[in-house]
Amino acid sequence: MKFLQYVLLAAPLAATLRLDRRGKVVYDGYKVFRVTPGDDIPAFESHLESMEAIDLTHNHGHIDEEHFDVAVPPENLSAFEALNFTSTVLSEDLGADIALEGDLAEYPARELSAAALPDFSWFSAYHAYADHLTFLSDIQSSFSSNSELITAGKSFEGRDIQGIHLWGSGGKGSKPAIIWHGNVHAREWISSKVVEYLTYQLVANYSNDTTIKGFLDNYDFYILPIVNPDGFLYSQTTNRLWRKNRQTRSGTSAVGTDVNRNWPWKWDGEGSSTSPGSGEYRGAAAGDTPENTGIRTLGDQLTNTTGIKLYVDWHSYGQYILTPYGYSCTAAASNQDKQNSLAKSLATAIAKPYGTRFTAGPTCATLYATAGGSNDYVTDINKAEYGWAIELRDTGRNGFTLPADQILPTGIEIWEGIKYLLANF
Ligand SMILES: [Zn+2]
Repeated sequence: MKFLQYVLLAAPLAATLRLDRRGKVVYDGYKVFRVTPGDDIPAFESHLESMEAIDLTHNHGHIDEEHFDVAVPPENLSAFEALNFTSTVLSEDLGADIALEGDLAEYPARELSAAALPDFSWFSAYHAYADHLTFLSDIQSSFSSNSELITAGKSFEGRDIQGIHLWGSGGKGSKPAIIWHGNVHAREWISSKVVEYLTYQLVANYSNDTTIKGFLDNYDFYILPIVNPDGFLYSQTTNRLWRKNRQTRSGTSAVGTDVNRNWPWKWDGEGSSTSPGSGEYRGAAAGDTPENTGIRTLGDQLTNTTGIKLYVDWHSYGQYILTPYGYSCTAAASNQDKQNSLAKSLATAIAKPYGTRFTAGPTCATLYATAGGSNDYVTDINKAEYGWAIELRDTGRNGFTLPADQILPTGIEIWEGIKYLLANF
């Protein structure tokens, strides 16, 4: 009972969350709708609140019509349907979708030699947070002359934000930086798996593929698969749909700040929230999350040394390649045309293996306004040549809970795209 009270306080918009015997939120019977609410968005949002529906994403729709993906609890389904909003059903049962992801798997056994890569079956299932750390450490020991484990500060709960730095023939820290990070949003599990897949491919092919050797010889890669470890762990132990970090603050019982609305540049504008209970809560002050401080400090340091060629903040879902800017639909980066054409070519390359279609373009104009997001900061402050966010599979059918059998195809198509990008920018 004590735990239930805690959840009630922490998530006022989801007051009736049901918990199973292990204290895990149960989503059985929740139905997921894509709703086109029309002009009166505030009225729609208050309906959602009264029905304890969960707002999964809100696409402001500069290309598509404005829509929300929402999960409605079973006890409020008939009331929701009586409102008669224009909607389509994305999922009949969110709980069943979560079950389709499969159980967290055991860490796969690997050959007992320091040079052995992690077993490839890593990409056939989702794994516990601790195993992601083992994966990184195993990748590092298999490539020990050209890599080291790095940390980018600590999370609110004190966990190291773990990553790996890879380099090529020029030696450590000698080339322009490529920074990739995943799982700033806790529930977007596919993002860390894909970042790990890219890492695996770089390391596995360095000595047998001259193109890939060239990537590592030309750039230093700083890769952080899970930059919100507290939130990620919470999404595994307690609430599969948790998004934010797990930061507590005085004066509110709400937990968590959206680390990707917390960057200290164009902070506190449209596309972020001042309400601590919101999924897009921006924080009390710009850059006041420990996770933001950690990853930002890494980028700031590289700005002052080798410079940043490419920064990708990996997310799901929606299948978008998002260039600057989020804070404005009219502002343009100095190399905006080049960024957009490269992003479109990346989308074409991603489509090659399975025909998966990604939409490419500036964040605000393509998807929605954001304030305090990573790509604006890394573009304007870190002077990254390309400062992007990529939203991985899918377009809503399974959303954040992408089945485990889609991990590998997602990795394969993104690797095709990234190989094109690294060879052509
Ligand atoms: Zn995200």
